[in-house]
Amino acid sequence: MDAQIKITNLSSPQHIDIKGDTLEILPLGSGSEVGRSCIILNFQSKTIMLDCGIHPAYSGINSLPYFDEIDPSTVDLLLITHFHLDHCGALPYFLEKTTFNGDCYMTHPSKAIYKYILADYVKVSHANIEGALFEEKDLKKSLDKIKLIDYHQEINTKGIKFTAYNAGHVLGAAMFLIEISGIKILYTGDFSREDDRHLKPAEVPEQDIHILIVESTYGIHQHEKRLEREHNFTKYVDEIVSRGGKCLLPVFSIGRAQELLLILDEYWETDEKFKQIKIYYASSLATNSIDIFKTYINMAGEYIKNKYSSEGKNPFDFEHIDCVKTIENLDESKPVVVFASPGMLQSGLSRTLFDRWCTDPKNGVVITGYCVDGTIGKHLLGEPSEIELTDGKKVPMNMTVKNVTFSAHSDFTHTNEFILKLQPKNIILVHGEGKEMERLRNEYERLKVDNNIYKKFMPRVFNPKNCQRLIFNFKIQKDGFIVGDMCQKILNNFDKDKMILDSLVNDTHYISNLENDKMEIENEKKEKSDKSDNNENNENNENVFIENNYIEVSGILLNESNIFLEKGEISKFCEIQPMKLKQILKIKYTLCFEILFNILKDYFKIIDELKENEYLICNEVKMYVQKEFIVLEWYSNGYNDFLANSLAMTINQLETSPNNNVFKHYKNDNELCDYKKEKLITFLKTKYSNVNENNENKNVVIVENDNICEIVNFLKKEVKCDNEEFREKIIADLQFFEEL
Ligand SMILES: [Zn+2]
Ligand SMILES: [Zn+2]
Repeated sequence: MDAQIKITNLSSPQHIDIKGDTLEILPLGSGSEVGRSCIILNFQSKTIMLDCGIHPAYSGINSLPYFDEIDPSTVDLLLITHFHLDHCGALPYFLEKTTFNGDCYMTHPSKAIYKYILADYVKVSHANIEGALFEEKDLKKSLDKIKLIDYHQEINTKGIKFTAYNAGHVLGAAMFLIEISGIKILYTGDFSREDDRHLKPAEVPEQDIHILIVESTYGIHQHEKRLEREHNFTKYVDEIVSRGGKCLLPVFSIGRAQELLLILDEYWETDEKFKQIKIYYASSLATNSIDIFKTYINMAGEYIKNKYSSEGKNPFDFEHIDCVKTIENLDESKPVVVFASPGMLQSGLSRTLFDRWCTDPKNGVVITGYCVDGTIGKHLLGEPSEIELTDGKKVPMNMTVKNVTFSAHSDFTHTNEFILKLQPKNIILVHGEGKEMERLRNEYERLKVDNNIYKKFMPRVFNPKNCQRLIFNFKIQKDGFIVGDMCQKILNNFDKDKMILDSLVNDTHYISNLENDKMEIENEKKEKSDKSDNNENNENNENVFIENNYIEVSGILLNESNIFLEKGEISKFCEIQPMKLKQILKIKYTLCFEILFNILKDYFKIIDELKENEYLICNEVKMYVQKEFIVLEWYSNGYNDFLANSLAMTINQLETSPNNNVFKHYKNDNELCDYKKEKLITFLKTKYSNVNENNENKNVVIVENDNICEIVNFLKKEVKCDNEEFREKIIADLQFFEEL
């Protein structure tokens, strides 16, 4: 599919899309940075927000994505990939403090952990000078608005189809595949293709992806081999405690921590000396988070599952690790290992322990996660000789710093494999430091020249900054299926053109490019067609083009499946039982029917007489002529209702104001209907002894004292009589009769 790309910057006006085939991607966060992930997709008047995080290096309002760039009330759907703060930290704010009114989804484990992580965040951020973005009550309220999605569940809302796939990374992390009008966008969030102890690796959706939005945290870096990393990690911890030091393991409280706990718990089995050395998992969320991991054991990796089934023991019931909420009662006289959050040492437990331990060279810190620029964790990796404590005091930095990456972000090797499997036409890099991203982009440009597979699909690679819009123009292809009688009718038309498709009458045919002036009908089962047909026919079977005006397509389009069919066949092809609504309307009409008939004939053209006093108007509305009434009967639909209403109005107008100018052309010699004439005669007979019908012209004639009076036109009160006084008397009688 062809896409034209235009990059605009912050100050350029918003692109207004009339045809609805322009896809706009706007990062409000995570554009050339790690933190506050938030990406806006806009396509065919539908707006989707992907993630709603905060930036860990900033606090208060500064940590939010650039929400000012959008109108939150226009966002239809908000998808959260996982529970890390850089992906969901701004969610309570966005759900409770903005005009957002759309749907918000995340997976079950994400929601379970989100609740704890954000509650912890609220406590920490209240201690900040900048003030909190939201409060505990906002978080509680936000929970009611979060809907759940399972891996592989497909949800359809407001014309947007989306599916969650396992992203590895942390428990419950999801990638989202979003489909609107056939355009498929895959957003990876944070993902990892590594086979962890406690998690399965990220999946590769078997889909043709038009746009891949992919994290690029590690740029072109390659992680060491998993076994090597495990070995280094246990070695570093071992070295520190063996020399009598205290070992600090700053971790994000839920996620990687669980993987490292499993590794260390297992390692502690290997040597008797460890029996004397305590390991603490110090976090206010420690116990709760372990309970969650025990609950979602079905989502765990093979290691956990095997251990569970072979030993019958939940590996999260640790042998050597104590979960503690605080570090107040910690015995620091002996070597000890402490897992403490946060992972980048910004504040909290890990920072308190670091401040306490950093001057002693026996102690050591092992950094295992990714550290964002501007955090103390990142600063330590630069091996500073001096360090500023939280209270501002400067002290020598003597404790050892080791770094071993357990960060569950895909490295270059894994991302590259992932891209080669998906072969997307467009790649948008997000969630990476600017320079790393630039290097990665250059690497892909190089691969497009050097690598044979890249040469084939030639992806375009973008690394937008925050608030920089990417605009893609897609040619939308709408596909539909024609089934049943409608299909038969179309094929009959082929026959006329000597196109041999008779054997395919009951097959489904595929129509694409409906928006264009011609339809392409492709036989889906063409391999089954008779191979002995001559060449010309085979060609026709391959690709048949028909001018649009050649086929009259009338029927029903089932929106979800894009199936076209005759309206009568709806229950044959789907589970819908069609119902007809019959409408009956009785309208008072006392005048001559002939006059009405002439008017209707003129107005509505098609009037068929079915039998006596029964007519069919425009093939749709039945009309029964009764004494004093006209009855209309029709099956309700837009057209028929309109038709019946017009008929009713005409009848009513004629009945109530027959002398209206509109009807003056419709003359009738005998404008009184028989029924009314009968009534009139009965009425006149109460006053006059001699009332009769003229045999020739059927006019009513009254004879009184040799005066003869003839009613020529009842409606116009035209009365013929030589005696003026008698004439006026009769006119007064007619007036009186009409008012009865
Ligand atoms: Zn993450
Ligand atoms: Zn992240």
